[in-house]
Amino acid sequence: MLVDHHFDCIDCNLNTLLIGEYYMVQKYIWESSKADKAMLCITCLENRIGRILTPEDFPDLPVNTTTFYPKSTLALSRILGLASGASMGTQ
Ligand SMILES: [Zn+2]
Repeated sequence: MLVDHHFDCIDCNLNTLLIGEYYMVQKYIWESSKADKAMLCITCLENRIGRILTPEDFPDLPVNTTTFYPKSTLALSRILGLASGASMGTQ
């Protein structure tokens, strides 16, 4: 089993690549998360910055598309902006 622990979320230890939450956000958001060179899943990043991510938070990069890395439902809803209003409900 090939698991690269470089991709592990430093808060919950989930592998961001495996759960489909390998992505990039705007530099200032990442800086405010204080994660530096580490990885965070969407949920843990949102916990750290204290708000829900919106499409504007994701730069227009290949890493943020499903072409290169599969995306979780949560990641897609944030990147595409499908979660406004009902973000904390069950899936
Ligand atoms: Zn996490």
